[in-house]
Amino acid sequence: MAEPRRAPKIMAVANQKGGVGKTTTAINLGAALARRDRRVLLVDLDPQGNASTGLGAPPEDRHVTSYDLLLGEATPQEAVRETTSPNLLLVPSTSDLSAADLELGQRQGRTQLLRGALRQPLMADLDLDYILIDCPPSLNILTINALVAAQSVLVPLQSEFFALEGLSQLMLTIREVRQTANPSLRIEGVALTMVDRRTSLAQQVEADARENLGTLVFQTVIPRNVRLSEAPSHAQSVLDYDPSSAGANAYRALAAELLARET
Ligand code: ADP
Ligand code: MG
Repeated sequence: MAEPRRAPKIMAVANQKGGVGKTTTAINLGAALARRDRRVLLVDLDPQGNASTGLGAPPEDRHVTSYDLLLGEATPQEAVRETTSPNLLLVPSTSDLSAADLELGQRQGRTQLLRGALRQPLMADLDLDYILIDCPPSLNILTINALVAAQSVLVPLQSEFFALEGLSQLMLTIREVRQTANPSLRIEGVALTMVDRRTSLAQQVEADARENLGTLVFQTVIPRNVRLSEAPSHAQSVLDYDPSSAGANAYRALAAELLARET
């Protein structure tokens, strides 16, 4: 008898601040999980489409997008495409998504659209283990859709002064989503990004985060590494662009930590 298919684990990568490492984490954690023999889908839910570009789907080549999937105007099979990274699939986005706030308006069930799309029976044919959702830098209707769709949230936290202060708004939103549409939403973990452990500021931020958030903070920290910022302009994950870089090592370690927690 065939093994019963498990539903994929859906993780939102969210933080309403821009430039904290959401997209970098979604791409490279996705690529690292995919190399551990997991089938991974990255859903680009940011109208800026950085994850799409970074994985080899340039704007002129994005015909079916996450917006079509969200609105039920495309099947998962139509929306999903391969990337430059093995075993890592992508639903790209375009700037059309920025109209979502307006267009969805007060439409009934507008926060449940992504949940419906990602949990529809046709998804099973893609045989996925993980779905990572790259959220926009805002707590708008798109991010709410991601939080409603997900089993857990992974929060990248940039290592800088006041990093923790920015988290309270996100935590409030997570609580609201739990009280309404998605009671079982968990925080997967907080990943410290762009860490330069040689500086006392970075050491302080890490100590504060571990003191305040305890075991929610991943043991793995993501160092500041120029390879991570170069890789997207080559339309590659850092694991493909420079597999021996500190950035690649860090995202492989983060994937290993995540997988170890699950067994
Ligand atoms: P977000 O998606 O939260 O807006 P990004 O992942 O796009 O953030 O990161 C913002 C910028 O910082 C990008 O130019 C990215 O290449 C760069 N970056 C992200 N993480 C690192 C890192 N660990 N080291 C160096 N540069 C990084
Ligand atoms: Mg981004």
